[in-house]
Amino acid sequence: MALVNECFLKLSNNYLFSDIAKKVSAYKEAHPQAEIIRLGIGDVTRPLPMASIEAMHKAVDEMACGATFRGYGPEHGYGFLINTIIKNDYEPRGVQLDECEVFISDGSKSDVGNIGDILGLSNTIGVTDPIYPVYIDSNAMCGRAGEIHDGKWSNITYMPSVMENGFVPQIPDHKMDIVYLCYPNNPTGTVISRSELEKWVQYALKYDAIIMYDAAYEAYIQNPDIPHSIYEIKDAKRVAIEFRSFSKTAGFTGVRCGYTVVPKELTAAKANGERVALNALWNRRQCTKFNGTSYITQRGAEAIYTPEGKAQVRETIDYYMGNAKIMMDGLVSMGYQVFGGENAPYLWVKTPDGLSSWEFFEKLLNEANVVGTPGVGFGPSGEGYIRLTAFGNRENCQAAMARIKKL
Ligand SMILES: *Cc1c(COP(=O)(O)O)cnc(C)c1O
Repeated sequence: MALVNECFLKLSNNYLFSDIAKKVSAYKEAHPQAEIIRLGIGDVTRPLPMASIEAMHKAVDEMACGATFRGYGPEHGYGFLINTIIKNDYEPRGVQLDECEVFISDGSKSDVGNIGDILGLSNTIGVTDPIYPVYIDSNAMCGRAGEIHDGKWSNITYMPSVMENGFVPQIPDHKMDIVYLCYPNNPTGTVISRSELEKWVQYALKYDAIIMYDAAYEAYIQNPDIPHSIYEIKDAKRVAIEFRSFSKTAGFTGVRCGYTVVPKELTAAKANGERVALNALWNRRQCTKFNGTSYITQRGAEAIYTPEGKAQVRETIDYYMGNAKIMMDGLVSMGYQVFGGENAPYLWVKTPDGLSSWEFFEKLLNEANVVGTPGVGFGPSGEGYIRLTAFGNRENCQAAMARIKKL
């Protein structure tokens, strides 16, 4: 008798985006003339940088010719891309990495979800709340999250990140073995200061914990004092794995490419206390379960680091951040309390008049025909907020603000 992994059955179905879609289509059916503006999407909308397009066309042509054809590549990625990443994303920030410490992947959701393969099932977990759901769900799937009661998992520490603490979650004074941090944050759009990140590294050193640092939105940071990489912090290589993605940086959500840094210094313990390097384990894991990101894709990713590529990426990010500013200024002038949006493409809006996330969602949909994402969908501490994204087009952002103003 084949048995299922019953951990999957404990997961609540995440109905968030399908519930939103249902409510929007019901509204449209009742009001066929309404022009709905979607400010809820977590996907980019601008096309790829032309430098990537040209590089990928060239790579396709190479595939058409016996002399330049490429089959399986290295599981951890081609050296041309890894070295370009190290030279452009890390060295200018004073971080030296070896080629073997950077693993190219098909995006960071896979890596964030799979990293638990190399860690023991009895580790305890910490997350800031609200948060990107993959961290919790991937741990629930292998049983590491424990049991769920009232929407919270027994083996997970939830650290509220809310207006009242300035979106700086308090660092607990008890041990958590694995801590997930995402900065700039999805969904709140808030960032972490260097000194606060230093405290986390100190915490991890003290408790022998590992920090999973998701930097998917680092390219959106505008303030020069905000760290882009956790390795900018002293000794972080001993305690942290960093995840990066070309999805939000360069529009690769549909192309699929990201990378994960597992430093050689990073170790975890065996039950007998002996230390084991995680770099070797992650390499073993990838070589067994992953056969590499396509050559064409890696050439496309490499091209974003050319001078033209960099300028094109900057232009697109500036466009989204211009949207964020329009939304931020608009909402603030209407008296809303708005967070994020300055170093991230997300605005985290406090619902007015004590409305719940869903009540405010309904109000925006019914009275302004604007769609946001209820904050409570990202965790218990997201109740009372709504997430708006800057990934739409400029005209829609402006129109949405004009409509919300009339509420
Ligand atoms: C979008 C996003 C990612 C990137 O996912 P990909 O699989 O690389 O497309 C990672 N982390 C967070 C928090 C995100 O919002």
